[in-house]
Amino acid sequence: MGRCAGKVIAASRISATTPSAYKNASLFAPGVDSSHTKPTFYNYQIQFTIVMDFELSEQQNLIRKEVRKLADAYGPEYWREKDKKREYPKEFVEELAKAGWFGAVIPEEYGGAGLGVTEGSIVLEELTVSGAGLDGSNACHAVYFVSHPLVKHGTEDQKKTYLPKIATGELRFQALAITEQESGFDTTKIRTVAEKKGNHYVINGKKVFISRVAQSDLMLLVARTTPLEKAPKKTKGLSLFIVDLRDAGSSIKRRRIDMITRHAVDTNELFITDLEVPAENLLGQEGEGLYHLMDGLNPERIYIASECIGLGRLALERAVKYAKERIVFDRPIGQNQGIQFPLAEAYADIELADLMRYKAATLYDRGLPCAAEANIAKLSASLAAFKATNQAVQTFGGYGLAEDYDVERFFRDARLMLIAPISTEMILNYIGEHVLGLPRSY
Ligand SMILES: Cc1cc2nc3c(=O)[nH]c(=O)nc-3n(C[C@H](O)[C@H](O)[C@H](O)COP(=O)(O)OP(=O)(O)OC[C@H]3O[C@@H](n4cnc5c(N)ncnc54)[C@H](O)[C@@H]3O)c2cc1C
Repeated sequence: MGRCAGKVIAASRISATTPSAYKNASLFAPGVDSSHTKPTFYNYQIQFTIVMDFELSEQQNLIRKEVRKLADAYGPEYWREKDKKREYPKEFVEELAKAGWFGAVIPEEYGGAGLGVTEGSIVLEELTVSGAGLDGSNACHAVYFVSHPLVKHGTEDQKKTYLPKIATGELRFQALAITEQESGFDTTKIRTVAEKKGNHYVINGKKVFISRVAQSDLMLLVARTTPLEKAPKKTKGLSLFIVDLRDAGSSIKRRRIDMITRHAVDTNELFITDLEVPAENLLGQEGEGLYHLMDGLNPERIYIASECIGLGRLALERAVKYAKERIVFDRPIGQNQGIQFPLAEAYADIELADLMRYKAATLYDRGLPCAAEANIAKLSASLAAFKATNQAVQTFGGYGLAEDYDVERFFRDARLMLIAPISTEMILNYIGEHVLGLPRSY
């Protein structure tokens, strides 16, 4: 979203193209905007201007341009091949890391650029809309939201040890292990346990649907440290651990689950047996892990919304082009309202979702509550992406189902976003209970 004039003037002096350059170029950093610290009339005016300004700032547009330039070098053939071979886009991810984009939302004192969720969401949207779809953004997006609990709840030692290397890509922190087969969305019922023995914890259990395990050095894992029946509340007694996968050996066995979606990104079942994790790898307070994790949920919803928006725009761009070119019954198919209206509707839905995504991101970056907005952004963006990709397939007719035309891949990607990382139903549960104040339904 727009920034005050000071930022725009400062942004015009940008010459370098690293993520930190965008931060340094601004007078007021996103999230720590010094204009909001003193309650003067002038500052209220600035805040009003920011909230009502629907333009991206100059540096945000620059971020968009730079990320897109990098991503555009990987054309449709690259992504088609990666998806077909179920192969991780290593070159693409490495180039992003080298260019500094993994450190975008990591604070400057730990080697990052200290940008906000707004800017992080722009990066992920551009990676998706470039043509990569979720095979591109999902290959590396976890670094953006897994870093949040580490920044917020890590000890100084943990932050100094991990964050600078995560920022450069030297340490790949891309895996987050919460889900288990028996508990599904009811995380409080997970059965993986961590038992403290001397100066380490011993972890046993099973996880399912864990992404990018093969592509990570570190994994953030949730385990019960107090049995559910002994915990003061069901949301207590869960803890977070930084697991170094390089040391895990045969304590973690992995089985890849082939999905219809995001073929280039691995999704795994994990079997964890007597995994020893040093006590200093406990992240945050023992027993408070679920609360620590929840701190990162709003950014995650916003990032996922931005990917959905990118995916919807990508599908629409391809569909509109095809609808103009494809002649059947002596006219472009896009002249038929049966093709034109659903595309127009999908476009409108994406634009609406985008407004909510920027509202949520702006609130988050200003330290304001944004749970309702972040959830609504994810909900509306995932529905809009599904509508857009579905209509793109319809517009392409038979070719819409052919791998060579890509839209079937975007459609498969969009289907995932209605389920993970949180489903449409669970968001509606949230809105019903926490926004509308209706009785909890489950
Ligand atoms: C490709 C992929 C990648 C993933 N990556 C990761 C990862 O890296 N790390 C990780 O921890 N997890 C990951 N997940 C898990 C994901 O985030 C979900 O948490 C998980 O799929 C939910 O569990 P479940 O599928 O067993 O659904 P269930 O909990 O069994 O739910 C099944 C259906 O019932 C609905 N439902 C359940 N309860 C209610 C209710 N009370 N009211 C209304 N509807 C309800 C749900 O919305 C859903 O539609 C991934 C999942 C997928 C598919």
